[in-house]
Amino acid sequence: MEVLRTKTAIEKLQLRIEEVMEVVEKSKERREALLKKIEEVKAEIERHREMVEECRGKAKKAEERLNLVKKAEEYRALLKEKAKQEDCAIKLGESLKKLEEELRALEREKEDRKPLKELAELEEELSDMRYSQSRLRGRLEELERELESLRSEVGGDFLQEYERLKRKHGLPIALPIDAFGACGSCGTKLPSALYSRLVSGEVVVCPSCGRLVYYEEAV
Ligand SMILES: [Zn+2]
Repeated sequence: MEVLRTKTAIEKLQLRIEEVMEVVEKSKERREALLKKIEEVKAEIERHREMVEECRGKAKKAEERLNLVKKAEEYRALLKEKAKQEDCAIKLGESLKKLEEELRALEREKEDRKPLKELAELEEELSDMRYSQSRLRGRLEELERELESLRSEVGGDFLQEYERLKRKHGLPIALPIDAFGACGSCGTKLPSALYSRLVSGEVVVCPSCGRLVYYEEAV
């Protein structure tokens, strides 16, 4: 019974460990994606600033050349170029502002301590569960050794009978009788002949449910 209980506890822990590991993994992935996005937006901001500078530079160059040209046609072309570059700088400046806003929002998200705290708690839970699991595994090995030695101690026909009954009924297969002399599994009152054998220390088969019953002195 204890081997069964220990195995079940190990399996339950394993399920929870896997569950928590998945949550931790996802949380780490989200964090990485956020940091990556911040880097991307920063690079995009840098690119926009350079482009704004470039448009401004071109507009300035066109303005300077206005004083140097003689033909009206060229002058008009330069004016047009200047307006075009100024317009470009304004439009890029607007996208730049949006990007800077986006960056601020992302930085706020990055500074939020709550998800980090949750992650730390989950990792602590994981390490606790892994520790419990390794202790249970140690206990299971111990129990299995004990079980093996009990099996060789009991041996022979009785062990075979025990295993047969176990296959038939499942665990628990051996139970103490209750204070009223009834089977601990099915509750049937045992005949007095059986009862005296029980009291003398024998393990008998309950005539009603077929499980093993024994007498346990009240503690
Ligand atoms: Zn019974």
